[in-house]
Amino acid sequence: KHTLNIIGGGMAGSEAAWQAANAGVNVVIHEMRPKVETFAHRTGNLGEMVCSNSFRSDDHEQNAVGLLHWEMRAAGGLIMQMAEKHRLPAGGALAVDRDPFAESVTAALKSHPNITVSYDEITALPDDGHWIIATGPLTSGALAQAIQTETGAEALAFFDAIAPIVYHDSINMDIAWMQSRYDKGETIEEQTAYLNCPMTKAQYEAFIDALLAAEKTAFKEGETAGYFDGCLPIEVMAERGRETLRFGPMKPVGLTNAHDPDNKPYAVVQLRRDNALGTLYNIVGFQTKMKYGAQKDVFKTIPALEDAEFARLGGIHRNTFINSPTLLDDQMRLRSKPNIRFAGQITGVEGYVESAAMGLLAGRMAVAELAGRSLPSVPDTTAMGALVTHITGGAEAKTFQPMNVNFGLFPPVEGTKNGRRNRKTRYKAYTDRAKADWQAWLDQLA
Ligand code: FAD
Repeated sequence: KHTLNIIGGGMAGSEAAWQAANAGVNVVIHEMRPKVETFAHRTGNLGEMVCSNSFRSDDHEQNAVGLLHWEMRAAGGLIMQMAEKHRLPAGGALAVDRDPFAESVTAALKSHPNITVSYDEITALPDDGHWIIATGPLTSGALAQAIQTETGAEALAFFDAIAPIVYHDSINMDIAWMQSRYDKGETIEEQTAYLNCPMTKAQYEAFIDALLAAEKTAFKEGETAGYFDGCLPIEVMAERGRETLRFGPMKPVGLTNAHDPDNKPYAVVQLRRDNALGTLYNIVGFQTKMKYGAQKDVFKTIPALEDAEFARLGGIHRNTFINSPTLLDDQMRLRSKPNIRFAGQITGVEGYVESAAMGLLAGRMAVAELAGRSLPSVPDTTAMGALVTHITGGAEAKTFQPMNVNFGLFPPVEGTKNGRRNRKTRYKAYTDRAKADWQAWLDQLA
């Protein structure tokens, strides 16, 4: 009988183990805690929540993360089952009593007849056998080194630098225009790759004031390593001088406002397409440690973004992740060493729920492979499919940064207008379609 080895017993590793073990596969979970600690974990439990005790919105009709909950429940997910058991009152959110939650996850895994837990740190990439690496944002140094040796230094990051991402259909195109600086590029598509928002001097000065005044979050203890060139938070750039941004990411050169060609903008905010579907745009160079509320207030003062809807807000965190779009195949296997799959936050998804979801999928993919089958591809109309499609190919590889699940990752629903006023109907249509397609996919496996 085959054995599936899983490195890391966090959100992803626990879920992967559960899925595989329930399908009759022998599983060994290799977990370094409590022997080797991280700066964020406090216990030796499997499935420990390192910070907030919330799995976010449980609304599976209007919210993409709630939809992911629904899909995981339909697939018999362990994390959702234990979350339900230890649920705390929290309005529409799925919050849990964290210690009993993790203790239950640990107990369920340890008492499973097909699962063994081995408390050891894995420090090298295994050459044979079937493996899933689910070591998370705080992957131990030795293993991260080994991964980097295999993938190249550029393909594994130790920090994320997330610029806010805006839904394309919430941008005011009466003000913004499409143009690359100096119209650079061979094709029309390249020459118009950027979406530009013009600012007058007064607007720029007010924007700088707002950045300087905004509330910021501090790095947690153990998280700091200073900033790197090329990913300074914008508010730090603004602190270095009022003109720094105007000579950096907001420089107005090489651009002509299509709506007002005679008026040179004083500064320009640029957005760039973030996914192949063209539904998401990130604000170039706008990684930030501003608090979420402050980000919305400040970014909505940018002309053309006054009604912007954010698919995700910016952030900078200690976060080990690989460049999945270039490194992984659509079965989440490392192209250069296909006996190894990756799952969880290290694949470039962000959040407990997304990490567990990618664990669920990786576990099922491993099961199919061990049985000599390959899993039919997950429809990209489901939350699960939209996420895995994004990380293994849909995302722009060059600027790849961790992603939360959101409706911008889904192919637009036919027959619903992409207007903001119809949002409720549209989201319901997304979730109805996803549930039907996810259920059909599960039925196909059974
Ligand atoms: P983890 O849950 O971290 O599991 C990885 C496991 O691998 C750990 O148990 C670790 O000990 C083990 N491990 C690492 N290296 C090795 C090795 N070489 N050998 C053996 N075992 C190893 N997400 C949210 O949704 N909400 C939050 O509030 C939140 N806060 C966060 C705060 C911090 C400080 C960090 C770093 C991340 C936070 N995240 C949060 C992001 C992320 O969703 C969680 O970290 C989530 O736990 C990721 O799941 P995972 O399974 O990929 O990794």
